[in-house]
Amino acid sequence: MDSLIVQCPACGTKNNIPLAKQHLAPKCGRCKTRLSLQGQALPVPLTDGNFAAFVTSAPLPVVVDCYSPTCGPCRMLAPVIDRLAGRYWGRAIMAKLDTSHNPATAAHYQIRGVPTLLFFKNGRLADQLIGAAAEAHLAQRIEALCD
Ligand SMILES: [Zn+2]
Repeated sequence: MDSLIVQCPACGTKNNIPLAKQHLAPKCGRCKTRLSLQGQALPVPLTDGNFAAFVTSAPLPVVVDCYSPTCGPCRMLAPVIDRLAGRYWGRAIMAKLDTSHNPATAAHYQIRGVPTLLFFKNGRLADQLIGAAAEAHLAQRIEALCD
């Protein structure tokens, strides 16, 4: 899924918001009301092609879940990352990178095991976490990144 359907609270229009644009002050296409994606935002899928540009131009801190589709702990972590994306919309951006299809970025950040979370602030790697952690712990790390 590369976009999110968000219903406008003012006019009821269903807006198609590309995942990569969830954090760029989305507005209703019909009535221009600002849309909140609180509780709805989803992780932004990144690739070798857009990773550097996305992370360096992001208006908020970015947390990237580096995962592999065949990894059990990654699959358990995925719904947690989804929830955190909705919870931190407006404060931090959750993103994800499939390391099995994007080896250049994985090599650049010396990712040796998945899941690995990379925390970026102002375009720079500020923190990282190897392995699946509890949601409460991840929330603490994101809060620290946002301060
Ligand atoms: Zn509207």
